[in-house]
Amino acid sequence: MMLQDSAGGFKGIGPKKLKALEKLNIRTVEDLIYNFPRDYQDRSKLTAISALSSFSSGMVRARVTSIVKSTNGYKKGQTLKLLVEDSTGRLEVVFFNAKYMLSHFRQNETYDFYGKISNDKGRLQMVHPEYYTIEGDEPPGILPIYPLVAGISQAEMRKWVNLSLSCISQVMEYLPESLMEKNRLCSLQNALVHIHNPENRERFKEAKYRLVFDELLCLQLGLLSIKRRNQPASRTLGYSKEVRMEDYIKTLSFSLTGAQERVVREINGDMEGEKPMNRLIQGDVGSGKTAVAEAAIYKAVKSGFQAAMMAPTEILAKQHYEGLKSNFEPLGIKVGFLGGNMSAPERRETLRLIETGEIDVITGTHAIIQAGVAFKKLALVITDEQHRFGVSQRISLASKGDNVDIMVMTATPIPRTLAVVIYGDLDISLIDELPPGRQKTVTKATDQKGRRLAYELLAKEIEKGRQGYVVTPLIGESEALDAISAEEVYEELKNRWKDKRIEILHGEVRQNEKDRIMNAFYKGEIQVLVATVVIEVGINVPNATVMLIENAERFGLAQLHQLRGRVGRGTEQSYCFLVNKGKTEISRERAKVMMASTDGFVIAEKDLELRGPGEFFGTRQHGLPDLKMADLIKHMPILNLVRDEAKELLSLDPNLEKEENTRLRQQVQVLFKNEDGFSLSL
Ligand code: ADP
Ligand code: MG
Repeated sequence: MMLQDSAGGFKGIGPKKLKALEKLNIRTVEDLIYNFPRDYQDRSKLTAISALSSFSSGMVRARVTSIVKSTNGYKKGQTLKLLVEDSTGRLEVVFFNAKYMLSHFRQNETYDFYGKISNDKGRLQMVHPEYYTIEGDEPPGILPIYPLVAGISQAEMRKWVNLSLSCISQVMEYLPESLMEKNRLCSLQNALVHIHNPENRERFKEAKYRLVFDELLCLQLGLLSIKRRNQPASRTLGYSKEVRMEDYIKTLSFSLTGAQERVVREINGDMEGEKPMNRLIQGDVGSGKTAVAEAAIYKAVKSGFQAAMMAPTEILAKQHYEGLKSNFEPLGIKVGFLGGNMSAPERRETLRLIETGEIDVITGTHAIIQAGVAFKKLALVITDEQHRFGVSQRISLASKGDNVDIMVMTATPIPRTLAVVIYGDLDISLIDELPPGRQKTVTKATDQKGRRLAYELLAKEIEKGRQGYVVTPLIGESEALDAISAEEVYEELKNRWKDKRIEILHGEVRQNEKDRIMNAFYKGEIQVLVATVVIEVGINVPNATVMLIENAERFGLAQLHQLRGRVGRGTEQSYCFLVNKGKTEISRERAKVMMASTDGFVIAEKDLELRGPGEFFGTRQHGLPDLKMADLIKHMPILNLVRDEAKELLSLDPNLEKEENTRLRQQVQVLFKNEDGFSLSL
């Protein structure tokens, strides 16, 4: 068999199994080889049956002395009971409803059984353990555990992976020998064999290190190439030094904070500098990123160019549209909006105005960067709430105009060390100050008992003319999850508060309806907005003073922080209620953090501590390719090492086009391929 052959060529993998494998993205022999275990079982630790009773689970090697079948009244129900023994004692192994398993065992054969140990009236039992046939004198070793889907057993997966490994000699090394020697890496073939079947811990470590190294190297090579491409030697679009951002800032109703001023200077420096701008603006919710973005847009447009401002959702994009329009139109700057569900003629007209250059600033979702939108003279592209924009979008963005300036804004606080990696291709600015006059939002965590009081306060605030949000984890009722839904709350409130204007907003609401509701909320025509996290990012309604979060225990800290950031945006005192369901240690701890801190960075760090890096720094969240082996936090030291290697490789061969680097290049492309089949062309 060859690496690219269908896995269906192996004995035992028929069309049905092949279909099941496809759900795990396994189609070819090579896919099987790269289907890494999610965990391991140490079979080198066999337990004697006589010692089992003091453990909750264990692995024994035992001989089957008898096989007992019995029916239990149900239709298919047949219980299979094995009596097994080793030299120290006896054990019962039980499988319920397992007629089909009869053929799996033979009397007097020896198997390894691994599972939970229970006690049935004094008899030691294992119910539904994993079991392995022992062939010859097979020494106990470390066993891989694979991710599975219905229709495939662990034993089958192990067998197939082992079959695929018979083709391992076809896997070609892609790292230069010198690099492998310098970093004391084992060969790729060795790594692949031992990641599946590690001979011992040493071998496993070597294998894992090599695979983590490779993955991080490809990640860095990809990110560095994007950076290089996004930073051509010199800018081709020159902005006028005569156009001063201060002239725009003077038209605002407030003066900038020190932090905003500093960042505006940094942006101005970029725009008047030699190279195109490529900057990340980090600023906590409410820190005033929009005003900074507007200053940059002003400079671009007044210099005779076009600018684009993109947001992750239509709601946000629409908000930017409204905001920019009211600030810019008095200055003679024309703002347009491009949405996913405009009528065809409306869309055509907007596209025409963009192409002729009559629209100076276009706002919208990333539909803007999709094919079909042609600009007359696009010079500046701003993306808001960057964590929703993936690397691939950044790539296609860069290919849109020649040498466009790129600015991305995010409220997701990322420690600097990581930002360098994740946004390695960007310069970083920080707005680390909130506008003056903001009152700290009063945050209260309550249990179900306090829920009523929270709603009472919401009602009181509404009487005073304010508005509020109620956020729930679910849209509709769910049987699987014990959590409250937006629809339930909406019905409840409508019945209770007949005189109040209440609306519901979530991901399944039609776009037109969403727009109508958001507009009405902006205008103050809606008093309570019951919603899911669709309102998490960016929405700005200063008159909203209450954020009531149901089942707060279901949200991450960083997410709660984002949600809370929707209130406290005006001068009035605001409130945030976290209504918790349970009372676990961790929910208390989380509530404490939220009540004590309003600093996104502090909260992010706590989030990291409480949830672990996997979730908070999940690659998804930052639009990075999915990493199978590497963990950006845990493997930070390797990451730094790899960064240097990647730089060196690219300095010798910028496009990785030398013969010896071809396979490495392909590897990078595989990593950066996204769902749309879009990849990095090196
Ligand atoms: P974010 O950084 O979360 O995107 P926004 O740009 O939406 O924040 O700003 C939040 C609110 O603060 C807006 O109503 C904006 O007009 C206001 N704002 C921004 N900068 C200042 C400032 N320097 N002084 C007072 N208000 C400001
Ligand atoms: Mg914003």
